Amino acid sequence: MTRMETVPTDQPITLQPMKSFPIIKDLVTDVSWNYKVNKMIPPFKPRAREADGTWRMAQEEVDRVQEFRKCIECFLCQDVCHIIRDHHMNGDKEMFGGPRFMIRVASLDMHPLDTVNRLPLLKNDLNIGLCNITKCCTEVCPEHIHITDNGIIPLKERVADEYYDPILWLWRKVFGRKEERQTLKELPVVAAKP
Ligand code: SF4
Ligand code: SF4
Repeated sequence: MTRMETVPTDQPITLQPMKSFPIIKDLVTDVSWNYKVNKMIPPFKPRAREADGTWRMAQEEVDRVQEFRKCIECFLCQDVCHIIRDHHMNGDKEMFGGPRFMIRVASLDMHPLDTVNRLPLLKNDLNIGLCNITKCCTEVCPEHIHITDNGIIPLKERVADEYYDPILWLWRKVFGRKEERQTLKELPVVAAKP
C-alpha cells in the first residue's frame, strides 16, 4: 500500500514475500496457519443486560478496545516476529500465537462487557510468555496499533497477576473468583439494544 512518491526512485526498490510463511508463488505466501490460531480464541460473550435492557460502559473503555479493532490482518506483525520465525518456521512444537492474535485477545479481554477468561489460553496455548517485547511488531503495523504497549504488556501483567501473584492467589482461595465484571450504573449509555 506504500505510494511510490514516498520512496526514492533513484535507487532500486526491493519487493519480497513475507518470510515467516511458506511461499506459494511470487509474492504470495500461505498464511492459513494464522486462521487456525484465530479459531482457538473463544468469541465475545457479554454479561447480562441491565434491568432497562441496555449495557453501560465507559467511553474510555470503548476507546481502549477500538484501537485493536483497526487491525486489517495484513500479518506484517506476524512476519517480523522473531519468535514466530524461530518456533513456527522451524517446526518447533512450542506454539506462539503472535502479535496479531495477542491484540485480538486484548480486544476481547479488555472489552468491558466480556465475561470469558482467556488467561489460560494466553499462558498455555498462545504462550504469551515467549514474547520478549522487542516491539518489532509495533514498528511495522500499518494501522499504527500500539501492539506491545497497549496490548501485549497489559496482557502479560494479567497473566502474571493470575498465576504468579501470591497475594491474589490467596485472596481467590479465600473469597473465590470474580468472573463477572462490575456494572457501572452511573455511566452514560453508549451501547443500547443492538
Ligand atoms: S514484541 Fe513480542 S510479539 Fe512483538 S515482535 Fe517482539 S517478540 Fe514478537
Ligand atoms: S501489522 Fe497491524 S494491521 Fe497488520 S495484522 Fe498486525 S496488528 Fe493487524
